[in-house]
Order: sequence, then structure tokens, then C-alpha cells
Amino acid sequence: MKDREAGLFFGEELLAWYKRECRDLPWRRSRDPYAIWVSEIMLQQTRVETVIPYYHRFMERFPTIGDLAAAPEEDVLKAWEGLGYYSRARNLQAAARQVMELHGGKFPRDKASVSGLKGIGPYTAGAILSIAFDQPEPAVDGNVMRVLSRFFDLDGDIAKPAVRAGLEKLAKELIPDGEAAAFNQGLMELGALVCTPRSPGCLSCPVMERCAGRLAGRERELPVKTKAKAPKPVYRLAALIESEGRVLVRRRPEEGLLARMWELPHAEAPNESVWSSADAAADWLAGALEAEGLRIQPVRCVGETEHVFTHLHWYVKIWSAEPAAGGPLLRETAQPYRWIGRRELAELALPKVFKTLLEEFFDSEPGSENAG
Ligand code: SF4
Repeated sequence: MKDREAGLFFGEELLAWYKRECRDLPWRRSRDPYAIWVSEIMLQQTRVETVIPYYHRFMERFPTIGDLAAAPEEDVLKAWEGLGYYSRARNLQAAARQVMELHGGKFPRDKASVSGLKGIGPYTAGAILSIAFDQPEPAVDGNVMRVLSRFFDLDGDIAKPAVRAGLEKLAKELIPDGEAAAFNQGLMELGALVCTPRSPGCLSCPVMERCAGRLAGRERELPVKTKAKAPKPVYRLAALIESEGRVLVRRRPEEGLLARMWELPHAEAPNESVWSSADAAADWLAGALEAEGLRIQPVRCVGETEHVFTHLHWYVKIWSAEPAAGGPLLRETAQPYRWIGRRELAELALPKVFKTLLEEFFDSEPGSENAG
């Protein structure tokens, strides 16, 4: 560490502040590695306030690693519904099964085994090992990189793996003896509550006195981070096919984005102009779904929605559609289809973009099938 004294000051002040100010969050009442693991996975890309009710429900429904490993995947996805980034839930369950098979149901305590679990990267491994077992492992995420870049006035681009590796080394060196759990959580807490991205609250910061970035007047410039590419726009056309108050949905393929979740049948338009022109869109949708074995006649566009994933921005137009004349609605298809009413909507796992749409549909249709 370049400035050892500053490092010692940082560790001491941060610990004292965290012990005084830390928020009482449900997962902080436990040292159970499973509880900490679930919370860390839920907190990726998601705000604390959003996570809390999900965390309670999830831990009630799957109180142990064994319960999670043994549950049907559909139940796990359902418990996750609305949190988004569903691969997190699938990986969590896959890793619970790994713990059952490889570690006799007991969460491992060594870094190599923890890092070998599905969905656990360096940050999550460090967070679990330090918080549950007080091991001096760094847990470096965006918050922590921001705080360290500012406090030590570091110019490295945090989007670069080498810079991240350097910050992990620094974060490990900073951990005061025997205080890994409190120190790492304090660092995360400082980034979340005080040293925030746009307006750092330096005047109430416990380490302001020796913060090199602040002293250089650069706290708002740091950290340096090259911009990620904007999500790619994707234009989709979806079919709302209704029969006796029920709606036809299909299950997504086994692999890839939103794998195995249920959705309205839909297809990607080749470009924005086909998507926005009524005739072209109707033709394209009918042709694309027919190629998959679903024979429909789009009638009219009834709505529009959008959803942003990490790398993709979906623009979706919804067309009400009827079965095409002269043949069955469904031929043999690779994907399973089924008719659902209000009750199944509550039972099946659907991506938020379609769930919201279907909720609105069932709410607006007095004749729709509500008894399931
Ligand atoms: S003084 Fe300001 S910039 Fe420095 S660590 Fe504290 S909040 Fe961040």
C-alpha cells in the first residue's frame, strides 16, 4: 500500500463509523452463509428497499440450502418474479444443488470451493467469506471501487480488469485484523449512503479529513470509468390470442435470456420500419409465428411496451390475433404452449414485461376467466 498511514486511518475511522451508523438490515442479523449469499445475489443490480420483501419471502419459502436445492425450478422463479435478471435465481438454485452434492449440504469455507459455485464471482465470494466467516477477503463492487478511487485519488479506469485487480489487492490490505466482516460491510455502506455516485456527502463522511480525492477537489470526477455501450434496441411483435377469457402463452427455450419462463408468443421484427408499419408488422408476425407452428391472423395493434435488459432494449407492440383460417391453431411445435387465466398468471413465472401486460389485460376484461 502506497500510503500506509492513510490506510490505517481509513480502516479505523470506517469501522468506528459503521459500528455507530450501520442500517439494521434483515440479512445483517445473521451470520448464516446461506442467508448472506441469498441477500448478496438479490442485491446485485437491485436496491435494498426492493430486496427486503423478496428476501423475507424467499427465506420463508426456502429456509435452508437443502430446501432450495430440492424445490421445483418453477417455484424458485416464481419467488424471484419481479426482481429481474432471472439467471441469478437459476444459478442460485444450481449452486445450492452443488453444495448438496459436493459439500454434503454444508456451505464451504474455502475460497476455491466457494468460487466454484455457480453464479458466485469474486465479489460475492469475498462478501460471503468475510461476512459469514470473518475471513480477510476483499469484496469489491462498484461502490467499493468508487470509495477507494476517491479516498486514494486514483485515476485508473475501473472498467478495466487490471485496475479492478489492483483495487482488490488494496481492499484486502486495508482490512484491519479480525474485522473483515465489519470492514467490508462498512465500505459497502459508505459507498451506498455517503460516498454516492453523483453527490458524495463529504461533509458527513468519517474519512473526509484524509480523503485525497476530496482534498484535490476531484471527488465528483472520480472514479474514471469508460462508458458501457447503450443497450441495443430490439423491435418485437407479440400476439395476444384470447379464447373464452384465457390467453395463449408459450414457454421460452431451455437456454438463453429468460430461459424456461412463460410469455406471449412473439417474434423479432427485422427492423424498426416493419415494426411500426401496421400492414408490414401484421404480415411479419403471422409469418414468423407460422414458421414456429402457430397459425394466427393479427387483427389490430392493442398496445405497446418496452423493457430494458443489461444489453438489450426491447420495444414490444402487442397485436390482438385470431386463429388463422383453414387449419389448426397449433401445429407440432418445439416449445410448449398453454392457455392461462388469472389464476395461472399468479402461479407461472413470467418476465415482468409480459406479466404486467397480462395483469392489465385480465383486469380490463370483465369476462376473462378469473377462477383459473
Ligand atoms: S470525503 Fe467525500 S469523496 Fe472522500 S470518501 Fe468521503 S464522501 Fe467519498
